[in-house]
Amino acid sequence: MTAKPAAAAARATVYGYPRQGQNRELKKAVEGYWKGRVGAEALRETAADLRRSNWRQLAEAGIHEVPSGDFSYYDHVLDTSVMVGAVPERHRAAVDADALDGYFAMARGTQDIAPLEMTKWFDTNYHYLVPELGPDTVFTADSAKQVGEFAEARALGRTPRPVLVGPVTYLLLAKPAPGVPADFEPLTLLDRLLPVYAEVLADLRAAGAEWVQLDEPALVQDRTPAELNATARAYRELGAAADRPKLLVASYFGRLGEALAVLAKAPVEGLALDFTASGAAHLEDLAAVGGLPGKRLVAGVVDGRNIWINDYEKSLATLGTLLGLADRVDVSASCSLLHVPLDAAAERDIDPRIARWLAFARQKTREIAVLTRGLGEGTGAISAELAANRADLASRAGSALTHDPAVRARTGAITDADGRRSQPYAERTAAQRAHLGLPPLPTTTIGSFPQTGELRAARADLRGGRIDVAGYEERIKDEIREVLSFQEKAGIDVLVHGEPERNDMVQYFAEQLTGYLATQHGWVQSYGTRYVRPPVLAGDISRPEPMTVRWTTYAQSLTERPVKGMLTGPVTMLAWSFVRDDQPLGDTARQVALALRDEVEGLEAAGTSVIQVDEPALRETLPPRAADHAAYLAWATESFRLTTSGVRPDTQIHTHMCYAEFGDIVQAIDDLDADVISLEAARSHMQVARELAEHGYPREAGPGVYDIHSPRVPSAAEAAALLRKGLAAIPAERLWVNPDCGLKTRGWPETRASLENLVSAAREIRAEL
Ligand code: GLN
Ligand code: ZN
Repeated sequence: MTAKPAAAAARATVYGYPRQGQNRELKKAVEGYWKGRVGAEALRETAADLRRSNWRQLAEAGIHEVPSGDFSYYDHVLDTSVMVGAVPERHRAAVDADALDGYFAMARGTQDIAPLEMTKWFDTNYHYLVPELGPDTVFTADSAKQVGEFAEARALGRTPRPVLVGPVTYLLLAKPAPGVPADFEPLTLLDRLLPVYAEVLADLRAAGAEWVQLDEPALVQDRTPAELNATARAYRELGAAADRPKLLVASYFGRLGEALAVLAKAPVEGLALDFTASGAAHLEDLAAVGGLPGKRLVAGVVDGRNIWINDYEKSLATLGTLLGLADRVDVSASCSLLHVPLDAAAERDIDPRIARWLAFARQKTREIAVLTRGLGEGTGAISAELAANRADLASRAGSALTHDPAVRARTGAITDADGRRSQPYAERTAAQRAHLGLPPLPTTTIGSFPQTGELRAARADLRGGRIDVAGYEERIKDEIREVLSFQEKAGIDVLVHGEPERNDMVQYFAEQLTGYLATQHGWVQSYGTRYVRPPVLAGDISRPEPMTVRWTTYAQSLTERPVKGMLTGPVTMLAWSFVRDDQPLGDTARQVALALRDEVEGLEAAGTSVIQVDEPALRETLPPRAADHAAYLAWATESFRLTTSGVRPDTQIHTHMCYAEFGDIVQAIDDLDADVISLEAARSHMQVARELAEHGYPREAGPGVYDIHSPRVPSAAEAAALLRKGLAAIPAERLWVNPDCGLKTRGWPETRASLENLVSAAREIRAEL
């Protein structure tokens, strides 16, 4: 018998698929269950139906090897915690009483028991529940979910590949449980965890699994030699078991770097690598380790995180190069398709000239199948698809939407001076003081006020044609009047209009900028049952008309006090949208920045003296590897400065970020050259203020004294105590008094009481100065 050429064996596969269903059935069923309207059995059936429908869709699209176990009621990292028995002590009773209710209690908390903490899954907008581990953690294997879902797919006549979060990534994503010293390293539990993984693998093998995938995306981040050694040990041990399935170790969101050599030597049968994030470099790395002889290589060539069609010729070239480097090459998306919406064909309102450039999860599975055929049978087998793909790509490259000469001329003419205020901070701060005449410790808020039911109803009425635009705008004005009159009475110094006209801080601007697209059904899981519809940066960006000016000026017409203008910054606009993949991110950021700069100048021309540009996404968008931080921060800070540097010295620029851990980007925050920054600080007892001081941060700052994530009303004494802590780090002339973040998720009663207390705290401390 002659050996088959490697290419002939090429298989199409994916690591995961959107969970929610065509009409977000999962969200409805889970939320119905929480409200007691849907029974546990009905919820389980809905979930099983969705899984079956996904497997059918994948098979119909031509995916040979489907995943199992990627489904989740809430989050796959929480599922992993259940799989290894890492249930926090405080949830143990609930989990023992009822596994499903206990699961949701860990995810969402109960009246008296806090949930697990939630944080971003690498640099995506998906949030996972952080495992809580400690020296006393005892792991026990519970393979029921994995084995059950494997069996379901089997019953449909296919052998799926179960997908698990890998043991190294699981531990690296964990944090010390409450009460455990903060310097406890969960990775020290590896030797305890591995036997549990081995047991789950053996169970899956016994159930008939040929391959199991272990996801190790943490290995695309910088890892210490000790962590790399732990990785080597983990896979040596898992690989040594006798009764195990074949192991595919998957990495995504970047290149493996040093971890590639470790995994290449490990006794596992396959590696999955991401060739979209840094494809060329990854190819070099692979060649440098001598390829993966004897191993299967799953090549992620279809971008699993963005919504653009693939470039078939480019992908086939990569796949062709890979053929010589492994025993067998299969084709996949770069990561789970969880991060893209389900089906571009569901979008009816998108211009068909643009729609042909879009590929959501469903379209991506077809692309993977086509590429697999091209790889296995030669390009002749896919000549029609190749021709269509070439035409679609050409239409995008030549489109007036993606190439607006006016926008290009403007970005091409940017000079250093455009990104520099006309005076340094120290000089303009004096001008601003004189101009604004604020008391010491000025009070302000972050922008939004409660988004009430009436406001949402007004938006729904407008969409449903029950009121016209004029009627809608009257309701918005009513709201602005109320927000203004409350702030005046409460004695706040720098007022806001409350953002009642905004559905979302990114979408509101995206809808008004040329070059940006909104989707109708482009839902992507953010966490649990929360889904977002990121807008699409599709073309060159410009601002045909002012976006916020009339609301801010209306608010200003109602008061003598300064009203702060409110914008979302360019980095956050990019971070919470699907970005163009046909030009560097920095180019897109500069276009957005210039459009926002027009808005900033429009606000100033209309008499606004304080303008806030929110950048809550500045830190979360940091690339996984430190070597890439400088390049990112360069375009990120440049685009912020381009947005804000066109104003007079006496116009005060604020920025806002909603997190407390930013030690690694303090320099970048300083480089924004904003006049005032507000940050989250209430929960960390002003830790932020101390960090700013340590760094010698020279500007005005408002570390939050009101935790808006909770309905709790802080007393005036509590706020005053926080302010005193703030004053210990930041001198009185530079300290602002404000909440942690916007108030849109809060109700009016607690908002009123909290802000009144915040003002009395500021007054109390002022009197002591
Ligand atoms: N200005 C926005 C608001 O107050 C800021 C929101 C945010 O930081 N995420 O809602
Ligand atoms: Zn915030």
